[in-house]
Amino acid sequence: MSRKFNFYAGPATLPLPVIEAMAKDFVDYKGMGLSLIETSHRSKEYDEIHLGAINITRELLGVGDDYKVMLLQGGATLQFGMLPMNLLHSGRKAAYVHTGAWAKKAISDAKKCGTVEVVWNGESSKYMTLPAAGAFKVDPESVYCHITSNETIGGVQWQEFPNVGVPLAADMSSDMMSRPLPMDKFGFIYAGAQKNLGPAGLTLAIIRKDLLEKCADNLVAYLKYKTHADSDSLYNTPPVFSIWTFKLTMEWLKANGGLKAAQERAEQKAAVLYDAIDGSNGYYRCPVDKACRSRMNVVWRLPSEELEEKFIKEGKAKGMLGLKGHRDVGGIRASIYNAMPAEGVALLAQFMADFKKANA
Ligand SMILES: *Cc1c(COP(=O)(O)O)cnc(C)c1O
Repeated sequence: MSRKFNFYAGPATLPLPVIEAMAKDFVDYKGMGLSLIETSHRSKEYDEIHLGAINITRELLGVGDDYKVMLLQGGATLQFGMLPMNLLHSGRKAAYVHTGAWAKKAISDAKKCGTVEVVWNGESSKYMTLPAAGAFKVDPESVYCHITSNETIGGVQWQEFPNVGVPLAADMSSDMMSRPLPMDKFGFIYAGAQKNLGPAGLTLAIIRKDLLEKCADNLVAYLKYKTHADSDSLYNTPPVFSIWTFKLTMEWLKANGGLKAAQERAEQKAAVLYDAIDGSNGYYRCPVDKACRSRMNVVWRLPSEELEEKFIKEGKAKGMLGLKGHRDVGGIRASIYNAMPAEGVALLAQFMADFKKANA
């Protein structure tokens, strides 16, 4: 079998040692005579996975006792609604920073739940940049200020997290665990697992206890953060397969130097592609403001849509999958999450040079 280089935005590439370890243990988990996904989520074997996943999350990010880590379902999309349902009751309001396609969805759902103030909107720059420090103000009465740490479609990423005077709530679906975080700025963080953490079906969420205390009580059980926080996310059946994979993926990350090393690798890989773009004399064009370029999702254009199609097709033939940009924006997108090896990025950069030579 030859493994392809997988540049899909999500579900996305996972570390090979992780899927190999899972394949090995899949049918007979640790001599139990059954697979982990067939056993009770109250079993001792699963308990070790579940609590292990929560603990390694705390360890990697340096999450203190003043936060609860929750393993949820419903994707990041459910969090677009669940966060404001929990926190925007009783006339409370929140600030939202509108940075692109994902922020737009978060704002749209939040508006259905309470008072939303969009404090910055990147529309005039076609969402190709992010606010400079101090470019927006947040009403100190806001319960939180919501940002999207990495816009997976547009390819813009916050390089530093703003000081806004209220807790940040961040959709980190596509860059969670790709760098250390200044946890003290955050009241709430969430990420669908299928970009940088594991398979689909799990959403990682971290909430600070003072915000947890402010959550609405009159919601159905699953939608209340308290339900999950008070039960270590075992109120109902958790997505055991996804959590198992997630735990192994985090162990792989830890064995490879943790978040600081992940950040260095991400910076190096991204630089290889941005250098290939910037060094192409305009043949490849990245539309994103240089100061905000994503290290997870690198987007660029070619001189024509026909050439883009050809590029994607030839890349695929060379074993590089998923290079097509999101259907809303077109162009090329290479998603280079933690598990993308440097060799995959080097191969892509070489292909870019060869393709230009042959087609310019
Ligand atoms: C993929 C993605 C989402 C949606 O995640 P689901 O798990 O499919 O709901 C939300 N926000 C960002 C930034 C994403 O990349």
